[in-house]
Amino acid sequence: MVFHLVFRLASIPALLLWLMAVPLQAQGLLRDADIEYGLKQLATPILSAAGLSPSRVKILVVNNASLNAFVVSNDAIFLHYGLINKLQSAPMLQAVIAHEAAHIANGHITRRMTNLASARTAAGLGTALAVAAAAAGAGSAAGGIALGTQSSAQARFFKHTRAEEAAADQSGIRYMKAAGVDPQGMADVLSIFRGQEVLSESRQDPYLRSHPLSRDRFRAVEGFVAAYGNTGAPHADAAYWFARVKGKLSAYTRAPKWTLRRVNETPYADVRLLREAIAEHRQSRTKQALRAIDAAIAQRPSDPFLHDQRGQILLETRNFAAAAAAYGRAVQLAPNDALVLSGYGRALLANDDIKRARQALEKARTIDFRDGSMLRDLSVAYARSGQTGMAALVTAERYALTGRLEDAGIHAKRAVGLLPEGSGSWQRAQDVLIASERAEKRRR
Ligand SMILES: [Zn+2]
Repeated sequence: MVFHLVFRLASIPALLLWLMAVPLQAQGLLRDADIEYGLKQLATPILSAAGLSPSRVKILVVNNASLNAFVVSNDAIFLHYGLINKLQSAPMLQAVIAHEAAHIANGHITRRMTNLASARTAAGLGTALAVAAAAAGAGSAAGGIALGTQSSAQARFFKHTRAEEAAADQSGIRYMKAAGVDPQGMADVLSIFRGQEVLSESRQDPYLRSHPLSRDRFRAVEGFVAAYGNTGAPHADAAYWFARVKGKLSAYTRAPKWTLRRVNETPYADVRLLREAIAEHRQSRTKQALRAIDAAIAQRPSDPFLHDQRGQILLETRNFAAAAAAYGRAVQLAPNDALVLSGYGRALLANDDIKRARQALEKARTIDFRDGSMLRDLSVAYARSGQTGMAALVTAERYALTGRLEDAGIHAKRAVGLLPEGSGSWQRAQDVLIASERAEKRRR
């Protein structure tokens, strides 16, 4: 999990020099293979009901404790971890996703993008999106990591109208019904914010700033829910994945003691053990952590994400060879999961297996570029195999993704000078360079 970067920094002195040059992002995405897989299980029936492609629309977690969910492009839904920790059931989480999916399916985002060119107030934002797209090499992937941090221009830009909110609630409830998910989840989500509609914006949760709430909206949702009725039995699978997503996320974001006190509240044995492993690991009780994760693996031996977690514990405790082996097992079980591959690459790199590290990280990048931690490792792998041009390129792309265009430009310029002119990589560096120069012009 990217969240654990500070800890990882401290535990791999070999890479320390490299990483020290890179200030940590104040805010970014929390990338975790297990959590994203669980979110995908919960989102798939909802996205399908909305007519969206579950493989195209990713559900990504923002490293932010406040309550918010938002969309900035048609191919990703962002959820603050604080909101997920606050939800009580799978239908509540699915309701949040359904509402955001409705903003996409109803064209609210496309409309904003169309207006973007003329919107001078959102100039900075437009640049961030353009650069993310350029860095991706393919137009539509502008899921900007930089967008988690909201400037006031961004906040204005992403604020939905009341008409859009009403439409998104209604469509969202329709998707839930079609997917066999209890629509009551939508009313339950809104009830978290009940009473806040009368507060000034600065005292509201950010969710209310992006999705304005009114008494009318409450009443309308309650009306829809009553009209659609309960769909009956809760989905066993959804309940499991909700417990696992929230259980793992809270184990990483709450105090370990808090987690350990509540371990028995989880009805699933493997989730209990997973949470225990994370809490023990965060207290540097490695033996206990490994015992718990091994017991979880004994329950679900072919679950790639438990092996991935085991690899992370071993890597962060400097057992590099064992970490590479554990991640290797995870990759066997999930060969096309970018985040699992990224962990494997990191472990191989720590174990000085540079060539295989580079191969794993390159594959991860091809599947999903939106992982700053993977890009950092890949640049190290390139640098350590003497490919300084590629190292500069990947560093430029990483800065571009986080909206740091000036730094991106510096590294892109260097990459352009080092890479064979006209090659695909040279072109990628040119794209970042051009985007950075455009941003500079705008600043002047
Ligand atoms: Zn909304």
